[in-house]
Amino acid sequence: MQHVEVRGLDKHFGSFHAVKDVSFDIQKGHLIGLLGPSGGGKTSILRMLAGLESPDAGEILFHGKRVNALPPQERGIGFVFQNYALFKHMTVQENIAYGLKVQKASKTQIRERVAELVELTGLKGFEQRYPQQLSGGQRQRVAFARALAPEPQLLLLDEPFAAIDAKIRQELRSWLRELIERVGITSIFVTHDQDEAIEVADEIMVISQGQVEQKGTPWDIYKEPATPFVASFIGESTQIEHAVRLHGFDLAAQTSGTRALIRPEYVEVGRPSEFALLSATEEGVVRHLHFRGSQWLVEVQVGEQRLITYRSLEKEPLQIGDPVRVMVHRAYLYNEQRSWIAENR
Ligand code: ATP
Repeated sequence: MQHVEVRGLDKHFGSFHAVKDVSFDIQKGHLIGLLGPSGGGKTSILRMLAGLESPDAGEILFHGKRVNALPPQERGIGFVFQNYALFKHMTVQENIAYGLKVQKASKTQIRERVAELVELTGLKGFEQRYPQQLSGGQRQRVAFARALAPEPQLLLLDEPFAAIDAKIRQELRSWLRELIERVGITSIFVTHDQDEAIEVADEIMVISQGQVEQKGTPWDIYKEPATPFVASFIGESTQIEHAVRLHGFDLAAQTSGTRALIRPEYVEVGRPSEFALLSATEEGVVRHLHFRGSQWLVEVQVGEQRLITYRSLEKEPLQIGDPVRVMVHRAYLYNEQRSWIAENR
């Protein structure tokens, strides 16, 4: 049995259709990432799971039991939001103990559970501090400890690292992954950051305009994007808009009603001497070079079409305006209904 089952969830705000017939399952102990652009409906889905918003239609089941009518406090849910929301007048220890006090746990139980969570979240030595005496990353760790203290069944995380600096944010992602594995709690993580979702989640659900575009492991979603939206939202890609011949494939996308998308890693660019089989390549010109630290991002023009690709730092550097040869190894093709039809190799 699945831990969480959502069937046909629908929600309007006035005349605005925010969530459209959304269905998904979550296996116990899994972390699922809801990924998509702002305004797509991710938070609304989370709020309905939490019982903070009621759906117009659809069912929510936890361990096979319908919870639609249960108030939020009876759903066994822990929350972590982006804006900390810690109690400012309470110490770290008191913040973590809060939910246990509400549950009327004994003093001994509270002491033991708080000590356990302080240990688990790496907050030893900070117990007596107030939120304003902590860094953003430390505050979010307190927020996790506070949410986990009452032993919720489900953890809902709404952009928990959005307000944190890039470097610390990166550390917190690995930290969260380990924490979730140790605790073994089913979790839902809302983010609009593709890297964050790819790194943290067991499965990703891509949401756009209130609908599920695709659900799958980060690997599947990256490798086999089901729709052009997913292909362009996760990872980089160029859409083929001009009739070009690339590596023998006629990607005259516009005329055949087919859309083609090409990821940079499937495009190879170089000087003629770098290709063994020149006949398999097309002529191109380097238009832009972006230094990415570990590699170059190269924008190359083939006929009227621009493509992006990477070039490793070990290879001879290219210059803007250089004539080059271009080879495309793979493209994703989508039909008019926007579904993935083929992969051209
Ligand atoms: P974000 O990342 O910006 O939070 P999101 O994907 O989580 O985006 P939601 O917050 O679920 O999106 O919002 C989806 C849409 O529903 C938005 O257009 C929003 O303006 C609208 N919406 C959300 N809550 C309400 C409400 N209470 N009343 C009216 N409209 C709402």
